[in-house]
Amino acid sequence: MSEKYDVIVIGAGPAGYVAAIRAAQLGLKTACIDAFTGKDGKPALGGTCLNVGCIPSKALLDSSRQFWNIAHNLPVHGISVGDAKVDMGTFIGRKDKIVKQFTGGIGQLFKANKVTPFFGTGKLLKGNSVEITGTDGKKETISATNVILASGSVPIELPFAKFDGKAIVDNAGALDFTEVPKRLGVIGAGVIGLELGSVWRRMGSEVTIIEALPDFLSVADADIAKVAAREFAKQGLDIKLDAKLNKAEVKKDGVHLVYTNKDGEQKLVVDKLLVAVGRRAYTQNLLADDTGVKLDERGRILVDEHCHTGVDGVWAIGDAVRGPMLAHKGSEEGVAVAEWIAGKAGHVNYDTIPFVIYTEPEVAWAGKTEKELKDAGVPYKVGSFPFAAIGRAVAMNEAIGQVKMIAHAETDRILGVHMVGPGVSELIAECVVAMEFKGSSEDLARIVHAHPTLSEAVHEAALSVDKRAIHKGN
Ligand SMILES: Cc1cc2nc3c(=O)[nH]c(=O)nc-3n(C[C@H](O)[C@H](O)[C@H](O)COP(=O)(O)OP(=O)(O)OC[C@H]3O[C@@H](n4cnc5c(N)ncnc54)[C@H](O)[C@@H]3O)c2cc1C
Repeated sequence: MSEKYDVIVIGAGPAGYVAAIRAAQLGLKTACIDAFTGKDGKPALGGTCLNVGCIPSKALLDSSRQFWNIAHNLPVHGISVGDAKVDMGTFIGRKDKIVKQFTGGIGQLFKANKVTPFFGTGKLLKGNSVEITGTDGKKETISATNVILASGSVPIELPFAKFDGKAIVDNAGALDFTEVPKRLGVIGAGVIGLELGSVWRRMGSEVTIIEALPDFLSVADADIAKVAAREFAKQGLDIKLDAKLNKAEVKKDGVHLVYTNKDGEQKLVVDKLLVAVGRRAYTQNLLADDTGVKLDERGRILVDEHCHTGVDGVWAIGDAVRGPMLAHKGSEEGVAVAEWIAGKAGHVNYDTIPFVIYTEPEVAWAGKTEKELKDAGVPYKVGSFPFAAIGRAVAMNEAIGQVKMIAHAETDRILGVHMVGPGVSELIAECVVAMEFKGSSEDLARIVHAHPTLSEAVHEAALSVDKRAIHKGN
């Protein structure tokens, strides 16, 4: 007879491993199955996020920022350094070490919380059994009262620019270049394209980003996107909007691209091409034909507002379901589902999920953009404050960007906060707390913020909603 659990989680990315740990904390007998193998060919927990996503990209963003600063920031402070050199082995090796530390850490957390790990591919069978095909091909079946599907996502491949892992790469490939490409092409000016494009630009690549949409960063507030576009252009990121890739051909001297923009057909040759046009839910080999679990029109696992699939005891979370493809969104769904299974009151507030782009300057937001509110006919008022008037930002030589706060015109409730500038990945947290507590701009305006800090930009933007910012004209 197969071993019986209270909860089986398929996938150990930030959605699945968090769900497994929370379920085990709640006293449920839990197993977690994952198929990912690391660079060394061994099983590696943590999914996309820890292995080839959030963590390694931030490691390289940080290393490349140090390198860039030597020539572009230190001289302003009166510090000069001779010709800086990069040891690529150390550059990539540091990232790999961080990845290993964190993927190994999940194993330790599983042990500490008594989650049973299985390495291999899990397939949901009818009746909440899961068939596991181990890395050695051996099969075993376990079953549970509840199964949580957390199979994540994979990069979308373009049929005319197929990944070859060498010249045409996905995110994993672009995190592992053994030398700095002289010319890097990036397809897609989304978060991944901008972050990884920034890494290699800072290391010296000529970076051209080709984006099909006519507007830059159309998911962000337009005022914020405008500042970001200007700053990225200053750094030498050549972003071509309204440009559609038609062909990518690998030849001896590089990847030959053909794209179309308003002036007609254009050609470009690059040494490496990163295709970052988005990700799709991954459900290959996940579901037996008769489970009753349905997929939506985009191939995502269909769930209700409680992440329930409609099949008794089967739930789905993270990138594999609707909603933004963000690690923290998946993790919170994981916690909520574990709590629902345990009969507790889980919750995810999809209206206050923070979005962050870890470029330089950083971009961060939560809630509605000004355009969304205008289109919905919601009456609103706007306050903003530039980092140029923030003492700490000037002292850091990073006085770029602004905080923009949008509040309801009548109730003053904060509806959205949008930022571009130094450290905004951290500053957005305060605004998320305020929004979660249904706070008003008046609430933030009355809270004492330490001086001199970057957080004063949030305080002043809140004051500015009511035209009473102190350090700028209103
Ligand atoms: C370059 C890059 C940078 C990113 N940066 C950020 C960031 O800064 N912040 C952020 O919030 N998000 C970021 N993301 C997105 C983030 O990585 C994802 O939103 C997150 O990993 C989704 O978590 P998940 O658990 O749903 O899926 P995943 O992390 O994709 O994990 C799914 C796991 O399930 C396994 N699996 C799939 N099917 C099966 C099966 N049948 N059996 C067993 N195992 C299976 C997979 O092997 C994988 O290990 C980034 C992504 C990329 C690519």
